[in-house]
Amino acid sequence: MSKPSAPVESYAELLKQGNLVVFPTETVYGLGASAWNPAAVQLIFNTKGRPADNPLIVHISSIDMVKQFTDHVSGRARVLMQKFWPGPLTLVFKKKARVLDAVTSGLDTVALRMPDHPLALSLIEHAGPLVAPSANKSGRPSPTRPEHVYSDFGNRIPLLDGGNCDIGLESTVLDLSVNPPVILRPGFITASAIEDACGFRPEVFSPKETDSPFQPKSPGMKYTHYAPKAGIRWLSEKDITLLNRQSDNSRTLLILHEADIPLEEPLRGLRITHFKGDYRRFARELYDCFRKADIDEHREIIIEPFSTELMQQDELIGALHNRISRAVSK
Ligand code: AMP
Ligand code: MG
Repeated sequence: MSKPSAPVESYAELLKQGNLVVFPTETVYGLGASAWNPAAVQLIFNTKGRPADNPLIVHISSIDMVKQFTDHVSGRARVLMQKFWPGPLTLVFKKKARVLDAVTSGLDTVALRMPDHPLALSLIEHAGPLVAPSANKSGRPSPTRPEHVYSDFGNRIPLLDGGNCDIGLESTVLDLSVNPPVILRPGFITASAIEDACGFRPEVFSPKETDSPFQPKSPGMKYTHYAPKAGIRWLSEKDITLLNRQSDNSRTLLILHEADIPLEEPLRGLRITHFKGDYRRFARELYDCFRKADIDEHREIIIEPFSTELMQQDELIGALHNRISRAVSK
């Protein structure tokens, strides 16, 4: 991890004065603002171009801070906090009245998480709870490296440099305000891990055709997310024939993880990234692949699909499938 150029305290001071600061977490880089400062929270929405109805996750550095935001901590919630915090699990609770409407987008619930990163924890200890969506322009892939943040915002927002993020996918979001609790966004902490910890296995919520697009359970779900400029699609038989036949594949990136695709030589410029069954690395590098494809001016990214068996074997693959599906061109 690279050393920050200024002490964490100076970044905390900027936050206390109502400024935004980008900071590293184990999942992705966050764009932080003081959770109790309405003007700073508003600045997050303006800076990202984030729709006002997409609520923010509050980042805390101790379990003690939870009581600032909610009075509804069940025994199960305590077990999950003890087991998974600090870590990539966001918990949604019924909120206290004083929590800012801008943070929750007017919902009666608030999302809380304790990031597992020494710089993030130290920053929050000094500055207090921070709201922090991913530090990207709305609709762009989440940043997992400092250069991703600079590419979206230049260097106008102070950035606490923690090197590359370890996990690379956004946190699991578990809604504890409903009975039974439900996973609103799959991530590194899986339904099985939650079941092992508290004896209850939450379903992963998937929107039904009948759900109103304007009142989804997880408001973030209705927005196209995580997308690069290049078109993305899942690999099909048809593509293999096409790639074998096409005279110029130089603007295509093929992402593989399992298959040995019968591609004939020469591939005429086709770029292939093969994760060879290393799904931790796939998760860590997915958004970097998306962003590099844009820098390299690729026109399309074709990704080997995941089989149902594979997703059942390893739930992290389910989280990868979720993020890629949402980036697939409509
Ligand atoms: P991000 O843009 O990565 O910060 O995403 C935050 C995610 O948490 C989005 O999918 C939000 O919809 C979700 N979220 C935040 N607060 C709540 C809440 N109170 N209830 C349900 N989902 C929430
Ligand atoms: Mg985001």
